[in-house]
Amino acid sequence: MAADADRPPVVLVVEDNEDNRELVIKVLRHRGFAVVGLETGREALERLAEIRPDVILMDINLPGMDGYEVTSRIRATPEFAAVPIIALTAHAMRGDEAKSLAAGCDAYIPKPINVRTLADQISAVIAAGPRSAS
Ligand code: MN
Repeated sequence: MAADADRPPVVLVVEDNEDNRELVIKVLRHRGFAVVGLETGREALERLAEIRPDVILMDINLPGMDGYEVTSRIRATPEFAAVPIIALTAHAMRGDEAKSLAAGCDAYIPKPINVRTLADQISAVIAAGPRSAS
């Protein structure tokens, strides 16, 4: 799952809010990432094998299937069980971080995102490598 040296890391952004999604895409493309944005977890699950992301930025509050459920389903898919997933949530509510980690996320970023630190946060998660099997 490590990124090849000759291609940029691929970030899958699952975020239903168009403004947030476009902002994240713009910031990450500017920093050299290849970015695919999707609106729903259902689409993410359907297109995972095609996109082959190096890291997934997962909004938790999604219509239909929420980000916890999408993450759990990705973790149950052998091919993508180890892909790093970063939870994004608008409500910095107590317990969100613990719930995200319990669902299988590797890291947690509260919204509104900090556009100056986002790319570095993602780079750090990629550099940490795939999750070890547990
Ligand atoms: Mn949302």
